[in-house]
Amino acid sequence: MNPMAVLSCCALGLAGQQPPSIEDKVAAALREVDPARIEATVRTLAGFGTRHVLSRTDSETEGIGAARRWLEAQFAACVPASGGRLEVAQQRAEMPCGRPGLPKTLPIVNVLATLRGTSDPDRVYVIGGHYDSRNDRAADGAGPAPGANDDASGTAVALEACRALCRQQFPATLVFAAFDAEEHGLLGSQAHAQALRAAGARVDGMIACDMVGNALGMDGGRYDGQVRCFSYAGSGNDGPGRSLARALTFAAGRHVPAFGVKLVFRGDRFGRGGDHRPFSDAGWPAVRCTELREDFSRQHQGELVRDGRPYGDVPDYVDFAYAANVTRVAVATLAELASAPPPPLVVSAQLRRDRYDTEIVFELPDAGAGCEFVWRETTAPDWTAVVAATTARVEELRPGRRKAILANVCLDDVVVGVRAVGADGSRSRVATPPEPGSEPARAADAPREGR
Ligand SMILES: [Zn+2]
Repeated sequence: MNPMAVLSCCALGLAGQQPPSIEDKVAAALREVDPARIEATVRTLAGFGTRHVLSRTDSETEGIGAARRWLEAQFAACVPASGGRLEVAQQRAEMPCGRPGLPKTLPIVNVLATLRGTSDPDRVYVIGGHYDSRNDRAADGAGPAPGANDDASGTAVALEACRALCRQQFPATLVFAAFDAEEHGLLGSQAHAQALRAAGARVDGMIACDMVGNALGMDGGRYDGQVRCFSYAGSGNDGPGRSLARALTFAAGRHVPAFGVKLVFRGDRFGRGGDHRPFSDAGWPAVRCTELREDFSRQHQGELVRDGRPYGDVPDYVDFAYAANVTRVAVATLAELASAPPPPLVVSAQLRRDRYDTEIVFELPDAGAGCEFVWRETTAPDWTAVVAATTARVEELRPGRRKAILANVCLDDVVVGVRAVGADGSRSRVATPPEPGSEPARAADAPREGR
């Protein structure tokens, strides 16, 4: 869906010299995305044999230790291009596990690359894949588990996004993550979310990429035109995760029009979970990107032939052009959000009593930012209308607080929202007023299970 490919930029309060447009910034980043490098990442990671959390760490050619040292070196190779601003580190933690056949606690090691924001560094956007793998025996730390699609593909997207974005400067902070131990309870992403919370970070978006390379369905069809985007919501069709999911469709429509984002309005697939969950549980906007059709015969396998059919999660079944398109959507979304001012705070919305106009009261954390308004029918999946600040007759109620009037928009029948607009034309996530009678957005409808 591409509801608003063309936008007019009628931002409020913008003055002075024009910085490079967001279109130019994103286009420059997208030119860096290279399917061949994604392929090399996936083949190298699969070549370590297994990246099981209990696999060996004392080898340079096999096991999870070799994998994470190689990943750290790849992120570190981006440091010169970033002008020395990219910080690369291993994050270590001892996490409770308790899965059958596994120790009660597991030492986890995430590999993190952080591009600190230039003016709003506490606002953080995270993209991550999990670099650990497993085969059909959950506690097998020695047998083959190439994990090419699950999830060398998502790890490759995070690494390639780092390579594409590290040359530029963004007001907000970007974190590129290779998570450990997703397969045994989302342990790496839990540790990362906990550390970010302890550091006082404001995570405004987390994109988990997990299985983003298989474009061939089990029915023989090719499904390479879209990626699925799963998002939790406390109630109704809005909430931080849904807001981020719609930011993905917006960025894809604006910057990657040949590829689509399929919104799926549930937190994850049935009975399964992923690395976006700990971030969503923390109250932060988080989504999961996954290929359109999974091939279950190739997940959590070594390489073998069964009943004449090839099984196994090996690189030959990964479509690197498809993974590159997923990378482009992620890069466009991260660049857009990290360039934009922080999202507005919506104080209230009400329908006027004398006519069918909606009044929306809001604050902009960045006083110099512009803004615009969007709305959609309650049953529509994505925003269908945009109203410029000039048209909405924005007025200042008191310093920092503003009121806008959306003419002929009947609030009781639609969802309205506000987003901040940067001087470069970048757009923040959309902020919406609380739904009538809604609980605070906090999902509790899916099991905590890695896959
Ligand atoms: Zn996975």
